[in-house]
Amino acid sequence: MSDCVFCKIIEGIIPSSKVYENDDIVVFKDINPVAPIHVLVVPKVHIESLEALNEQNIDIVRKIHLAILQTTKLLGINEEGYRVITNCGKNGGQTVPHLHYHIIGGTKFSEKII
Ligand code: AMP
Ligand code: ZN
Repeated sequence: MSDCVFCKIIEGIIPSSKVYENDDIVVFKDINPVAPIHVLVVPKVHIESLEALNEQNIDIVRKIHLAILQTTKLLGINEEGYRVITNCGKNGGQTVPHLHYHIIGGTKFSEKII
């Protein structure tokens, strides 16, 4: 996807502040953080959103969750807790059409989702 901002970050064309990376996943700081800790967990393969997951590509979700566990340990928020969000489509508020999971933490959130 030549015009995808996250593909460009993955290719190194756009700089990012990486906190974790493996063969399949990159995790970098959100440019516009909404919490003391706000990172994005992004698969290197271009999948548009959760709605584009299927039997063939669903293994990436396992890898995303394992990367989340690595990241929360690295950032030292694994014990106190955090929130994971994926926005999907127009009504879900998705602005970058490349599957990604927000990890937000470093503070206590309301028990209500929004
Ligand atoms: P969403 O609205 O769920 O699609 O999330 C997209 C997120 O990507 C937003 O929180 C943006 O602040 C973030 N974002 C957009 N461009 C960049 C960038 N170049 N580097 C880091 N984060 C970005
Ligand atoms: Zn992409």
